[in-house]
Amino acid sequence: MAAELHNVVGGARIAGRRTFEKIDPVDGSLVAHVHEAGPDVVDAAVAAARAAVEGPWGRASVAERTALLRRIADRIEERFEDFVAAEVRDTGKPEHLARDLDVARAATNFRSFADTIAAAGLDSFLTDLPHGRKALNYAVPKPLGVVAVIVPWNLPLLLLTWKVAPALACGNAVVVKPSEETPSTASLLAEVIAEAGAPSGVYNVVHGFGPDSAGEYLTTHRGIDGVTFTGESRTGSAIMRAVAPSVRPVSFELGGKNAALVFADCDLDQTLDGLARSVFLNTGQVCLCTERVYVERSVFAAVANGLAERAKALRLGRPGDPGTTTGPLISQRHRKKVQSYLDLAVAEGATVLTGGAVPELGPELAGGSWIEPTVWTGLDNSARVVREEVFGPVAALIPFDTEDEAVRLANDTDYGLAAAVWTTDLERGHRVAQQMRVGMAWVNTWYLRDLRSPFGGAGLSGIGREGGLHSMHFYTQPTNVCVQL
Ligand code: NAD
Repeated sequence: MAAELHNVVGGARIAGRRTFEKIDPVDGSLVAHVHEAGPDVVDAAVAAARAAVEGPWGRASVAERTALLRRIADRIEERFEDFVAAEVRDTGKPEHLARDLDVARAATNFRSFADTIAAAGLDSFLTDLPHGRKALNYAVPKPLGVVAVIVPWNLPLLLLTWKVAPALACGNAVVVKPSEETPSTASLLAEVIAEAGAPSGVYNVVHGFGPDSAGEYLTTHRGIDGVTFTGESRTGSAIMRAVAPSVRPVSFELGGKNAALVFADCDLDQTLDGLARSVFLNTGQVCLCTERVYVERSVFAAVANGLAERAKALRLGRPGDPGTTTGPLISQRHRKKVQSYLDLAVAEGATVLTGGAVPELGPELAGGSWIEPTVWTGLDNSARVVREEVFGPVAALIPFDTEDEAVRLANDTDYGLAAAVWTTDLERGHRVAQQMRVGMAWVNTWYLRDLRSPFGGAGLSGIGREGGLHSMHFYTQPTNVCVQL
């Protein structure tokens, strides 16, 4: 039976101005009726968050906040299977992926930011003044206040908790707007945060869409103190315009068109396994996924054939089937977009080594948003499919002859999120990785994260960095106190 998902405001479940349907991308069945927040519900959510920040929560000690974060992490683990079920229902991703990546990371996000805030010190400077006098400067971090958290559908719980955990660690209250495609885990998290003992109003959820809906009402609301957003670069621009009149800080984790650079001296098997993971994980719907693969010419055929073989070995199927490696795309709408790029690639002269179409998976899955994992050769950096983010299980392989050429081709993009370098020459690995104009560059691995390290993008891929103390900087604003001694 389809669930009914309400907005959550000050701990209460609130109906919206209408409901919309959340559809299962596996088979097209109905997952939930979701209450869309109108301006009145968004107003109430911002007011509830404001009351929380101005109440006892705003004065909670670091010890109280870290204790809450740890209880939330524990409670996520106690309800682990509920989260897996909700994540899988919304996204259609394989259950093992939801378990190992999304839900596990949600708990880790809360623990990691509890550790970070517990260990964070103060910036302080002893300033020399004329005539032997001194001044003491120290910066007192304070919460930003009411933070609007707007997140996408690809790793919905992981990306939501990546923002909510540091925001709460710093003493803020949040109003979250999950993607209309993935409303379930944000609602479940509201239960868990309440069960963990958070004061009401600390975590509020408004459901809906972007323009003329909850997203726009929230980002244009004068009662918010900042916006943390993950999603498309174009949406980031719209949100920047929305907050410009009130000059609020933004933290943006946006799109990518990430490159892999494969050198002839790489460990071929390890590289092909890593490369395949980086192209096809979560059906290519990870912002960090590789969509451009630059390969040294002498190993080009081996890499192209090896990647195509690995693509063919992927098993599309129901999330609970043990053999399933790959789920559907998130929606029919997104599949239309990906399909348009599959057609465009052919029109632009691609050779399709594998994939390129909608797969035949039988009548049970015919209503789902399935797409074949696809590998192209025969394109260059001038092709639109090599320049624009597809956000699906696709990669274009392009040969290079020299290291300089590889670096130039990889950096020839308006995006700048991530890159991966595959080589057994570690000097080269460091050298090339450091030249990548991206937020994150990996060598002989991909999507390996230490949550204390900075995460974000250059160019169209974002503004600011989150992770560890970088998140603390965004979710607080310091008051510097200067005392003449
Ligand atoms: P999207 O930008 O369409 O939507 C993201 C969120 O913004 C949703 O909740 C949506 O409802 C909301 N939204 C849309 N328009 C809005 C508006 N005008 N005002 C306020 N809110 C609005 O992105 P998506 O399709 O959900 O997600 C895929 C995109 O996210 C890809 O581009 C991907 O690369 C990017 N992404 C980036 C990262 C990162 O860390 N850099 C991580 C994951 C996904």
